[in-house]
Amino acid sequence: MAENAVASATDHVFPTLTTAQIARIAPHGRRRAVAKGELLVEVGQRPIPFFVVLSGEMQVLRPVAGTEELIVAHRAGQFTGEGTMLNGRRSLARARVSAPGEVIELDREELLGLIQKDTELSEILMRAFLLRRIKLIAGGLGDVVMIGSTHCAGTLRIREFLTRNGHPFHYVDLDHDAEAQELLDRFHVTSADVPVLICRGDALLRNPTNQQIADCLGFNDAVDRAHVRDVIIVGAGPAGLAAAVYGASEGLDVLVLEANLPGGQAGSSSRIENYLGFPTGISGLDLTGRAYAQAQKFGAQVLVAKGATKLTCAHPLYTVHLDDGARIEARALVIASGAEYRKPALANVSQFEGAGVYYAASRMESQLCVGEEVAIIGGGNSAGQAAVFLAETAGRVHILVRKDGLAETMSRYLVRRIEDHPKIVLRTRTELVTLEGDRHLDRVQWRDGRTGALETHDIRHAFMMTGAIPNTAWLDGCVTLDSRGFIKTGPDLSQEDLRMAGWPLARPPYLLETSRPGMFAVGDVRGGNIKRCAAAVGEGSIAIAFVHQVLHQ
Ligand SMILES: Cc1cc2nc3c(=O)[nH]c(=O)nc-3n(C[C@H](O)[C@H](O)[C@H](O)COP(=O)(O)OP(=O)(O)OC[C@H]3O[C@@H](n4cnc5c(N)ncnc54)[C@H](O)[C@@H]3O)c2cc1C
Repeated sequence: MAENAVASATDHVFPTLTTAQIARIAPHGRRRAVAKGELLVEVGQRPIPFFVVLSGEMQVLRPVAGTEELIVAHRAGQFTGEGTMLNGRRSLARARVSAPGEVIELDREELLGLIQKDTELSEILMRAFLLRRIKLIAGGLGDVVMIGSTHCAGTLRIREFLTRNGHPFHYVDLDHDAEAQELLDRFHVTSADVPVLICRGDALLRNPTNQQIADCLGFNDAVDRAHVRDVIIVGAGPAGLAAAVYGASEGLDVLVLEANLPGGQAGSSSRIENYLGFPTGISGLDLTGRAYAQAQKFGAQVLVAKGATKLTCAHPLYTVHLDDGARIEARALVIASGAEYRKPALANVSQFEGAGVYYAASRMESQLCVGEEVAIIGGGNSAGQAAVFLAETAGRVHILVRKDGLAETMSRYLVRRIEDHPKIVLRTRTELVTLEGDRHLDRVQWRDGRTGALETHDIRHAFMMTGAIPNTAWLDGCVTLDSRGFIKTGPDLSQEDLRMAGWPLARPPYLLETSRPGMFAVGDVRGGNIKRCAAAVGEGSIAIAFVHQVLHQ
């Protein structure tokens, strides 16, 4: 037993709880005896119970080719679980009793109740769960094998999808593994089928969509779609995740819908240096990954790879239509669907997306262009950040802007770094005109706006960072937009706007409220928003204060 033991400071991954800590867990669950060989958790099981070992021993195992590989053995005072405990997904491992003894068992709801009430235990468990998941990811110890190639667009997309969902996978690179290529050839798997995913040991998916992967891995299985929610949040970028954290932590029944990857645009940022509290910067993946875990810790449910396609805006219940045909109702709605990078008007741009053309510059993209020349198109802050970040590993970075310089569009600190960087070449009054290649981008052509001269360069990586357009098409005229398509809110809505929209109440819209009562817009999708993470997070949290007021009216 863990008499007088102290949770080890050096071992946060598999800590041993103190007697006092165990005593606080006990009332939340059931104490019971376990026999040697008893199976407590099976691979693929959902929901996964949580166990604290009081005596005896429990092994956590991974089935590999008919045998079992030991991941860890938990003894008295230690506990089971990792990230999946919070999001209600399937277990990646098996847990079996290897020496008889006693355990405390909690189901997922009981565990969530415990970590919401007990700050100290919440910290110990959250840290252990997250570190264990990182260990699984680092070791590629998941239930997914991905066979891909840097020459095909789907590979980057799927790696990003699995990574941002915190799902471990083993990657086989066809460009470096001739035997894997031979094997695929034998089974007549063509290049159009790559990447191939072996999902949960059996399903073989050929170049699957993100939705197919989410379905296969059961990412959304734990979410009940039938009951009316207090609030649905559309979009899991910083604004939506902030609304989810504040809403769920304040007791609201929150559902988040994310069409693609949790994290939004911020998730694709290599390093955010201006977010309060992170003086040395933080990667967008880290920042939004933590927010995603935090929202789930407070009980917010998140549907991933499930976009809102339509809205029925009959007040007081709003119905959101999903891309799989389902409908979910809520008494309030927070629109946090953000914005997307504008695609350049080049005929074949989509042919190279993920295979030489990128809209983000994260660690994943930077690994693809080590030592090579890259072109960045755009003169805003995200382009500047991408240039500085990529210059750490790329051979040379060309920034292409149509204007005469960067002063009007980029922060001074970035302009200085670009000017001082020996590997970065700024090309003003220059326009990208052609992309060429077969399966992967091989070369680009740009035009010098001063002379009209065309130049061709063997550049295999082009980063498009040319401004954003709001994701509002799915709203289908439900709320009032400004002339650029962003959502108007609060004091920006004129009397005329409200009259045209049929605003039904005597009070004017609250701050961040759209032309529909109880429907709020936050972050980049909102007109007048400052396009920054801090602004998105601030607005997401403020909106929840007004959601409470609406729900009480
Ligand atoms: C490369 C890059 C670097 C950046 N660097 C910085 C920086 O250093 N500092 C800073 O402050 N800001 C930075 N920004 C800006 C910052 O990331 C954005 O301001 C912020 O992400 C906006 O958050 P949001 O939640 O409003 O929208 P988004 O981040 O755009 O998130 C919106 C989410 O909604 C989802 N969505 C869209 N439509 C639907 C639908 N119909 N149904 C369901 N989901 C939907 C999207 O998939 C997305 O995940 C950067 C942006 C980029 C692209």
